Amino acid sequence: MKINYQPILPPFMNDVQDIVRAFYPYIEIDDDAPQTLSVSYSLKNCRMLVGIVFEGRTKYFSENIPSGLSEILYKKAAKKFVKTTLYLFCVKLTGKELPYGSLTGVHPLYVYRELKLNFQNPRVALERDFYVSPSRASLLREVSETQCGYFSNSDVNCDLYINVPFCPTRCSYCSFISTEVGRVKAQIPEYAAKLRKEIEETLEVIAVRGRKLRSVYVGGGTPFSLSAETLKQILEPLKGVSFTAVTRGQLKRTGEFTIEAGRPDAITREKLEAALELGVTRISVNPQTLNDATLVKIGRNHTAADFFASYALAREYPFEINVDLIAALPDETFEDFRSTVDGVIALAPDNITVHTLSIKHGSQLNLADYKKSAEGVALAQTDYAHTALNAAGYFAYYLYRQKNTADNLENVGYAKKGKECVYNIDYMEETNTVYACGAGAVTKFVFNTQNRIERVSGAKDLNTYLERPLPPKEL
Ligand code: SF4
Repeated sequence: MKINYQPILPPFMNDVQDIVRAFYPYIEIDDDAPQTLSVSYSLKNCRMLVGIVFEGRTKYFSENIPSGLSEILYKKAAKKFVKTTLYLFCVKLTGKELPYGSLTGVHPLYVYRELKLNFQNPRVALERDFYVSPSRASLLREVSETQCGYFSNSDVNCDLYINVPFCPTRCSYCSFISTEVGRVKAQIPEYAAKLRKEIEETLEVIAVRGRKLRSVYVGGGTPFSLSAETLKQILEPLKGVSFTAVTRGQLKRTGEFTIEAGRPDAITREKLEAALELGVTRISVNPQTLNDATLVKIGRNHTAADFFASYALAREYPFEINVDLIAALPDETFEDFRSTVDGVIALAPDNITVHTLSIKHGSQLNLADYKKSAEGVALAQTDYAHTALNAAGYFAYYLYRQKNTADNLENVGYAKKGKECVYNIDYMEETNTVYACGAGAVTKFVFNTQNRIERVSGAKDLNTYLERPLPPKEL
């Protein structure tokens, strides 16, 4: 289906587009196609009016504006009215309801927390005012309750992110800047030296400004696609770095230092030893699925048996371990995903992160093949994961949504009680400044006292990173 639609009022253009895309994720928007949908908004005698023209027929919807609203609150009310009206129109048109209802283009936990300020039961308000499904409203409550007490809300605290944009092979669904490590071998020494310098400079800024470091996270990519020597060279400045304690009630966590070791085929004893020596406390071992046929299909160079072997090796060390899984992988049935979830729970890692596949521009995965397999399966798969994980003592502690995700779902981090990853909460909830080093890294300055965030992007890819001067680490 091709569609040409015209949201008349520019401030709501993106919102209208987000709702349409949520119902028709693979739609091509074509300005030259005959116009099929248009949405207009106007204000008449204190009534908000939305007109929807679809295939030549017009329908109008109206609602009174609550009296005494400031300009900001009026704009908010108008936006909500446009979105929910279009959402309900699309529900009628398609016969499909979405798990997050009319919540698009916004972090659902921000909405949950805002509702919490005004309603005793924000879960009910989410279902009533935004048409969020009962299962997702409960999930948001669970995340909000698990996170409670972790927020720093201080402009002094910070986290440090380090990007290692290399992987052993490229997954078919990948849209990151990550490059196959074998293809850029010659540039690795230069990248390692520059990244180390950036880390040193950042640690200096943190010290001079009197900031307090809550966590370090080395991600990518697959950091363990580098050799143990190179990892030590890059991360040595972090050895013995001082962290501030993160307290949550009786719980006290200090010195959270994660490496997303990543692919099971990149994990060796030598690299685990190096990580231990550097002070790493948490690693990720990511199979994504325990189904060998799927692993071949998505371009990963390892088997489920490789994952079990790497996991057993990693368990010989005192790291907290996270395991990443993906729901709605190509051709995977409910049973395939269930056996992956059950297989990973049986290992009892500290964290299990359940992603839902999102297909973005730049990935190699064939959209047509994917469409066939994903529709409708993802919801059942993620619902199963939630129930099984809760039953095994894991609770959702962070959540984020991306565009073009199967069944309009989400990515959820689960943790055993007290094993929540502070970095993931700080980063997703934007409650803490996160310094970022490396190609593709974006530093985020959070000013809690001024309710303001500023981002400073560095070089987007490896070559630009090597050519350009390092980005500033203070505003
Ligand atoms: S492991 Fe992650 S970053 Fe690397 S290719 Fe796969 S999806 Fe991309």
